[in-house]
Amino acid sequence: MSMKNGQASLFNEEQQGPEAEPQSCMCVLVPYPVDKAYDYGVPDDIALVPGEYVTVPLSGREVPAVVWGDPAGDVKPGKLKSVVLKHALKPMPEVMRQFIDWVADYTMSPRGFVLKMALPVFGALEPPKPAKGYRLLSSLRAQRSNLEMDCRVADAPRNDRLKVTAQQQKVLDVLSDGVPRIAASIAREADVSAGVVKTLAGKGVLEETEIFNSAPCRKPDPHRVGPALSEDQDSTAEHLKKAVRDDKYHAALLDGVTGAGKTEVYFEAVAEALKQDKQVLILLPEIALSNAFLDRFQDRFGCAPALWHSHLATGQRKTTWRGVAEGHTKVVVGARSALFLPYQDLGLIVVDEEHEPAYKQEDGVIYHARDMAVVRAHMGGFPVVLVSATPSLETIHNAWAGRYEHLHLPDRFGGARMPEIESIDMRAKEHKPEALHFISPTLKDAITETIERGEQVLLFLNRRGYAPLTLCRSCGHRMDCPRCTAWLVEHKSSGKLQCHHCGFATRPPQHCPECSEADSFAACGPGVERIFEETKALFPDANILMLASDTAENNDVLRKMLKDIKDDKVDIIIGTQIIAKGHHFPNLTLVGVVDADLGLTGGELRAAERCYQLLHQVAGRAGRAAKKGRVMLQTFMPDHRIMKALAEGLRDPFLETEAAEREAAHMPPYSRLVGIIVSGRDEGQVVDVAKALGKSAPQEAGITTLGPAPAPFARLRGKFRYRLLVQADKNLDIQKTIAHWVGGVKTPSTVRVYIDIDPQSFL
Ligand code: ADP
Ligand code: ZN
Repeated sequence: MSMKNGQASLFNEEQQGPEAEPQSCMCVLVPYPVDKAYDYGVPDDIALVPGEYVTVPLSGREVPAVVWGDPAGDVKPGKLKSVVLKHALKPMPEVMRQFIDWVADYTMSPRGFVLKMALPVFGALEPPKPAKGYRLLSSLRAQRSNLEMDCRVADAPRNDRLKVTAQQQKVLDVLSDGVPRIAASIAREADVSAGVVKTLAGKGVLEETEIFNSAPCRKPDPHRVGPALSEDQDSTAEHLKKAVRDDKYHAALLDGVTGAGKTEVYFEAVAEALKQDKQVLILLPEIALSNAFLDRFQDRFGCAPALWHSHLATGQRKTTWRGVAEGHTKVVVGARSALFLPYQDLGLIVVDEEHEPAYKQEDGVIYHARDMAVVRAHMGGFPVVLVSATPSLETIHNAWAGRYEHLHLPDRFGGARMPEIESIDMRAKEHKPEALHFISPTLKDAITETIERGEQVLLFLNRRGYAPLTLCRSCGHRMDCPRCTAWLVEHKSSGKLQCHHCGFATRPPQHCPECSEADSFAACGPGVERIFEETKALFPDANILMLASDTAENNDVLRKMLKDIKDDKVDIIIGTQIIAKGHHFPNLTLVGVVDADLGLTGGELRAAERCYQLLHQVAGRAGRAAKKGRVMLQTFMPDHRIMKALAEGLRDPFLETEAAEREAAHMPPYSRLVGIIVSGRDEGQVVDVAKALGKSAPQEAGITTLGPAPAPFARLRGKFRYRLLVQADKNLDIQKTIAHWVGGVKTPSTVRVYIDIDPQSFL
């Protein structure tokens, strides 16, 4: 908030300077944390309409920008700086600019900061530069079949026989199709070093060409036949296809058990939108983990979708951004940030796993991509499909109220049955694991039976590392992060104690820093590494694989692990939530949840909902094909309504109870929350600002303010944090009230006040 008004003045001075008097004037938004669009002069030889991408001078640099509209007229014409150039791109559509304005207002972020999300790769505005490519001389292509070739090279004497090595021959084979490639791809495809390519080029056997990367996913084929749909799937798909054909805003919740074929169904809607020549966006919570999804897309549409996530290489980002902005790229599969790409003609958004917390962005512009996707569809006048087996309470509430069409797919495809879910009461004597162990004898027996039948087991524990807490046996000292309010987590694989919040890592000390006792540390509680160790000891002959975000360090490793599971090379999988979602392992029939209560203890607003969703997802990994699945939840609270709802398959009553509790407490979705986080390195300053905010909290009817209080993470990455929580009736213009309130509190530049509309996290 302070940013929204404060930093604008920083750039205002830039407007003044002796410049030639331009003819006309436009207001232009720059992708920096400023809210205001500035007036710039437009030279005679440039014709500009709103939405045009331009380069303008700012703070002594030239920066990209977008023409936002008519000038504000607040700078004297003689003092205006001028637009430097206009880029050869289709202008950003009006609806996209309205969307950026809307998101900025709603999230209380500077508009330029939101624009930055639409313009994340500055180089993309310039016309793409060609890469140097090579192809086989056309005169050689016809005759290159022998190892020893008779080849006439440009300046070689006639009939000179060129000897090629086996390595070089591989290159010639790859290039025999006449398609030019860059040296690195030739080398990769031919499995030789790039030097071999260079040598052949030097000999004049290859010729240089220019290669332009074309936009990804230009021609997905909507007419390819997908799988034959079941009756349920077909009628659901018809609803979605009709919504696409109607070409107006429509929100649907596609609600179906895991394995119901929701993806196949929404692919039909995607095909329909492609037939209308529209662009499509499919949002996934964790794009890096979606290899299987991408393969399915390729099967269905005959080409890979364009990907959008934070790990893309710069070159890829540029071509994809341009492809989307020009309207050439038809389907983007992306993480939340893909929502802000400047689509030329978007006609459908699918939000898969709409309940996932990963859709909330917690830094920069703080927004919820699912909610903003619905807004985008509304503004653009096209359908949005929210997909889940465990819808969020917000979404189901909208469906109950009739605001979203509620489409059901109640059964697993192909007659696969839902798994049987049972709780193991860890309080009972017969279920108690041995000391310092975590797998109950009951679960152990089930594992034995399953692997003896040649089927697979998943042991789920949503905690990375070996042990979440390291304690001195002598004095009780806990090893915690010097920068955060958090314990250090022991990781045996790296031999370090790590902070999962800031990345701090250290070797375990020889002596307790508190009491100096030597070798006194004990590991408390389990992480996946510890379960792996225990499982290995219990089942020495089994093939056991551990999968966590830090063990599957890159996509190739992960791909290989998932393939090994599919190929039945693994008996027992130990995994965190990375394995819980989306995967389809036909031979996996037993899921054991090591600590089903994990996540229930925090007492956060959505703890029960989240816990239910996660356990349901994990349970959904069991018995997805012909063999029936079984799920065992190790819990100290077998009577908790979550365990009961899971065991009895009663999702809706669970959601209804949850909704009733929220309504009674006047919590979302029955009210609106706003989190205010005050953060800074100087605790005194942070407390002063937090107190000042508390004192001047709005007194209007329908608004309650709680706090300030130290945040649960009272220190994070070395900064002190205090929180306030505003609870407001839904019909209030809460942004206006908060702008007035927070704007009225003096804040030193060393303290930041973050505003989190509709917070998901309260840490
Ligand atoms: P969901 O997204 O609902 O969990 P999926 O779309 O992933 O379900 O489908 C589960 C499995 O069933 C996938 O392997 C999918 O290919 C298969 N499947 C679903 N519907 C069909 C169909 N109509 N024909 C053939 N296979 C299908
Ligand atoms: Zn830390």
